Amino acid sequence: MESSYKKRMQRKKAYIDSRIEAANIDKGIVVLLTGNGKGKSSSAMGMICRSLGYDMKVGIVRFLKGEQVTGEDIFLDNHENVYTVIMETGFTWDTQDQELDKRKAVEAWVEAEKLLSNPDFKLVVLDEITYMINYKYLEEKSILKALTNRPENQHVVITGRAASESLIEVADTVSEIIDIKHAFRANIKAQKGLDL
Ligand code: ATP
Ligand code: MG
Repeated sequence: MESSYKKRMQRKKAYIDSRIEAANIDKGIVVLLTGNGKGKSSSAMGMICRSLGYDMKVGIVRFLKGEQVTGEDIFLDNHENVYTVIMETGFTWDTQDQELDKRKAVEAWVEAEKLLSNPDFKLVVLDEITYMINYKYLEEKSILKALTNRPENQHVVITGRAASESLIEVADTVSEIIDIKHAFRANIKAQKGLDL
């Protein structure tokens, strides 16, 4: 009994070791976090912390939450290795001005493009950019192009629901967070420190 367990574990270890050895490519990756469940932007924040831990320079562009400042933006404000751009508008249902939303989206994208061509930035977060593509505020083609042509060792984290097929294709790692339950549906309002 024990020896068959041991054999199984040895086989498992040999397999894992061989996979680790095979994974010898070192390059910037695109992580895409999509789906309706909670945890996309906050997961991006986890990777921001990891990068900052290694003194890496981080660029963050937030495409949706113009009005709502989050705890992480307050925390990272004035951090020497963080450059944050926040799209300066609420969104459609707040502003009810599509042209203004579009203009602001394009302005934020111009900043994102600068980050995506600057090798000093080791991590670039494009928070909620999927909506900009889905609403056709930004051209998907130019986003895909900037991702493809970015510096070789730059990581990118993209968040937002309903990611397009092309974004999924261009990303190296894609996770979909499923909404099983959310406190908001039990009338619990967004909580500081957890939701914002
Ligand atoms: P978080 O920033 O908490 O990681 P997220 O980025 O996955 O969330 P978004 O769609 O960007 O999700 O929504 C941001 C805000 O909406 C957060 O306050 C979050 O808690 C809340 N939220 C996320 N998913 C849901 C949901 N399925 N139902 C209700 N509220 C949600
Ligand atoms: Mg989010």
